[in-house]
Amino acid sequence: MKRDNFAETNISYTTKEAIDEAKRCLNCKNPLCVQGCPIEHDIPGFIHQLSMGNVGAAMQIINEKSNLPAICGRVCPHEKQCEGHCILNKKDNPVRVGKLERFIADFDSDMSLIKERLKPKTRGKVAIVGSGPAGLTVAGDLARGGFNVVVFEGQKEPGGVLMYGIPEYRLPKDIVRREIKKIEALGVTFMNDFLIGEKMTVDEMLEHEFDAVFIGSGTSVPKTLDIAGINLYKVLQTSYFLRMVNLYNNGDISRNAVPLIDGEDVAIIGAGNVAMDAARTALRMGANSVKIIYRGTEETLPALKTEYHEAVEEGVEFLWQSKTIECMGENNTLNAIRVETPEGEKLMPMNRVLIAIGSKPANRIVSTSLGIEVNESGYVITKEHPYGMTTRRGVFAGGDVVHTPQTVVLAMREAKQVAKGIAQYVDAVKLLSQ
Ligand SMILES: Cc1cc2nc3c(=O)[nH]c(=O)nc-3n(C[C@H](O)[C@H](O)[C@H](O)COP(=O)(O)OP(=O)(O)OC[C@H]3O[C@@H](n4cnc5c(N)ncnc54)[C@H](O)[C@@H]3O)c2cc1C
Repeated sequence: MKRDNFAETNISYTTKEAIDEAKRCLNCKNPLCVQGCPIEHDIPGFIHQLSMGNVGAAMQIINEKSNLPAICGRVCPHEKQCEGHCILNKKDNPVRVGKLERFIADFDSDMSLIKERLKPKTRGKVAIVGSGPAGLTVAGDLARGGFNVVVFEGQKEPGGVLMYGIPEYRLPKDIVRREIKKIEALGVTFMNDFLIGEKMTVDEMLEHEFDAVFIGSGTSVPKTLDIAGINLYKVLQTSYFLRMVNLYNNGDISRNAVPLIDGEDVAIIGAGNVAMDAARTALRMGANSVKIIYRGTEETLPALKTEYHEAVEEGVEFLWQSKTIECMGENNTLNAIRVETPEGEKLMPMNRVLIAIGSKPANRIVSTSLGIEVNESGYVITKEHPYGMTTRRGVFAGGDVVHTPQTVVLAMREAKQVAKGIAQYVDAVKLLSQ
């Protein structure tokens, strides 16, 4: 593999390949793929339309459940969801639902197939804080339902983890931009570089302009480890590393600003999908070697199997049943790590350590507004009725800031429910005030 190559690794189907693949679908009476999909896509429905060449009809079916199909088609854990449940998976050859969804969504964007008829925005005005999958989903659903929606995003560009976390080779940023453009086309306004809690508070939003506020601010505070040397220079958080590489790929910063020098030996602490992303990104940025240090075994690895296999193929090494016990250095700069392995303690020369052990919510929003309660770990507490409302009337929340770091599609599933809760709430308040 050419290490500096950030081109997408999973190549799209041609039209003929997509139709041939769609024809493999058995159109089961009791489709297990739908049960495996957190948002219960009508998978046989859109695949059947595609198999007949009706891409527009297929897209219309997808639009009923998802605002982000080009993204889900690329980054959903299909092996655990639709494809894992497909009856043909018994023969290890499931219908490639993800690739088909992505084909349909990309084709729709390329050809501008669907022009949605927009409802007038008369039902009320809703502010969305955060433009990750949760915020984008609520924004899209409410705009389609006739609400005036404004999204406030702290970063320069919308997309959340889709834009600044997941690497380009798995999710090209132009694809994210294209999906967001479609949501914008529904009449949603985006205010970027606008940090809520600094430029405006939730209290001010409710006082002045908005009938309801949705918080979809994710989990931006990385967790750290309690080991010696963790604060040395060149020991850093994966989220920061991935963000800087995405900014570099986007042309926003220079190569020197990326915290990895060509030829470095890199250790990654953690073994989830984020660790796989960091490892493969480090190789692409020119690392000499990348080792993932993990307490468990190959069988207990939390990362998706496909991600793991691709990482191994690209040259990432795995130290199983191993634990980093110290980061060591000179002049406050890392130069080695001490690792407990099944063979005993080892001292390994190391130029960089990336920590990938999870993240939790920031408190910027809840600490600057009244009455939004969080649990002991900082996650926002929400109710069932109306779905997703916090302890503050008119303020709703969803996605990772409520449910702990999960996946794109799970953030979307919750967000869809919350969008219904917001609509019920705003409609009821308007009715009662007449
Ligand atoms: C590196 C990485 C790789 C991943 N890979 C996958 C994958 O392959 N497949 C998958 O399904 N899931 C993956 N995930 C998980 C998935 O991306 C998250 O579960 C999902 O993005 C959560 O969506 P969200 O909308 O709740 O939050 P986020 O995507 O985190 O979005 C939150 C947004 O809120 C903004 N924000 C925060 N505070 C404020 C504020 N005060 N004012 C204004 N804006 C604010 C942030 O800037 C951000 O844009 C990955 C996560 C990471 C970190």
